[in-house]
Amino acid sequence: MNEQGNKVIMETYKRFPIEFVSGEGCILTDSQGKKYLDFVAGIAVNSLGHCHPGFTEAVKKQLDTLVHVSNLYWTKQGISLAQALVKYSGLDQVFFCNSGAEACEAALKLCRVYAKLYKSPDAVEIIAMDQSFHGRTYAAITATGQKKYQKNLEPLMPAISHVPFNDIEALKKQITPDTCGIILEAIQGEGGINPADPAYLKEVREICDRENIVLIFDEVQTGIGRTGALFAYQKYGITPDVVTMAKGLGGGLPIGGIIAKEKFAKAFTPGSHASTFGGNPLVCAAGNYVIETLMSDGFLADVQKKGDYLKAKLTALKEKHTCIKDVRGMGLMIGVEVDKAPGEIVAKAMENGLLLVGAGDSAIRFVPPLVVTEAEIDQAVEIFEKAL
Ligand SMILES: *Cc1c(COP(=O)(O)O)cnc(C)c1O
Repeated sequence: MNEQGNKVIMETYKRFPIEFVSGEGCILTDSQGKKYLDFVAGIAVNSLGHCHPGFTEAVKKQLDTLVHVSNLYWTKQGISLAQALVKYSGLDQVFFCNSGAEACEAALKLCRVYAKLYKSPDAVEIIAMDQSFHGRTYAAITATGQKKYQKNLEPLMPAISHVPFNDIEALKKQITPDTCGIILEAIQGEGGINPADPAYLKEVREICDRENIVLIFDEVQTGIGRTGALFAYQKYGITPDVVTMAKGLGGGLPIGGIIAKEKFAKAFTPGSHASTFGGNPLVCAAGNYVIETLMSDGFLADVQKKGDYLKAKLTALKEKHTCIKDVRGMGLMIGVEVDKAPGEIVAKAMENGLLLVGAGDSAIRFVPPLVVTEAEIDQAVEIFEKAL
C-alpha cells in the first residue's frame, strides 16, 4: 500500500500505513476491517462525522440536480449559504473559494486592496504571528509564523512580518503608518492549540480601529462550531473585519471563504479576485446543511458541553500523569501538551483504535466530529490514557 502509493503520489505527507474504506459517525473502518474512533475528523473537517444521513441526502439531492456552474451566474445554494453566514457572523459579505489557504489568500489580498483605496498607496505591510499557520500558497505560507514550513521556498512574499503572539507591546512596535492588515488565529491550531488572551484581542481590535488596519481572524480551524460558537471571535466578544473559514464548513466537501464587513468587502470589485470552483452549488448545498444543523436548537450548546466534558477529563489525567504539562483549548478543539514525543503517543493510541493528531512540537490535538457523544469521549480518553 505504501509502496504503491508513494510511487505515484508525491511524498508531501508522512502517511500512516492505514487505508480507510468507510466511516459512520465518529468511527472509521480500514481495509483490514479494524475500527478506529476518529478524533482527528480529517483535521477538524468532518464536522458532522462520517456519512451523516441528512448530510448525505442533501448532497445527493444536489448531485442529482446541479453540480457546477460558473460564478458568472447565480445559484440559490450559493446565495442561501452566504445569507446564513452573514446572518450568524454579524458581518456583511462573503467570497467563496475552496480551501483554507485560498481563504487566507483572499483576506490578505483584500486588506492590501482596501488600504490602496482607503488608506495610502504605501500601506502594504501585513503583520502575522509567530507559531501561526495560514496554509501553503505563497502569501499564506509567508504569513505562517513557522520557519519549518518555509524551507527552500525563498524568496517569500515581501512586506509580511511576524511578532510574538499575545504580546501587545511587540505588536505596537511593529505597526507603522504603512501597516494595512493584521492576521491572527483566535486559537492557534497547527501551532499547538494556543488560545489568544481576551485582553490582547480586545486591544488589537482597538488599535486596528484607530489606525485603519484591517483585522483578519483566520478561523479556518476554529470556525464553524468547533469552539462551541459558530466562530471563535464570538466567544471573545469582539468582531474582526474579515474572517476566513474552510475546514468544517463543507462537512468534508472542499469549500472555503471569507466574510467581511461591508466597508472592506466593497474594496473588491469585478475582476479583483475570483475562483472557478468557489462556492459551486454542490459544495454550498453541503455548507447549507452543515450550518443549518449547527444553528439548530441546542447544537452549539451541546458542543460546548461536550468540549467542557472532554477538557475536564483530560485535565483530570494531568493529575495522574506527570508527562502532561498542560490541557488547553475551547469547545471540541483541545490540545494536550506533553513532555515526550507526541508522535509516539499518537502511534500508540492508533494501535489501540483511537486517531489523534499532533499540533506544534509538543501537543496532541483532540478535534473530533462535533456530533461525538460523551460515551465516545469516555472511550477516547481511556485509550489515550493507556497510550500514555
Ligand atoms: C488548515 C488551516 C489552513 C489551511 O487550510 P487548507 O485548506 O489546508 O489550505 C489555514 N489556516 C488555518 C488556521 C488552518 O488551520
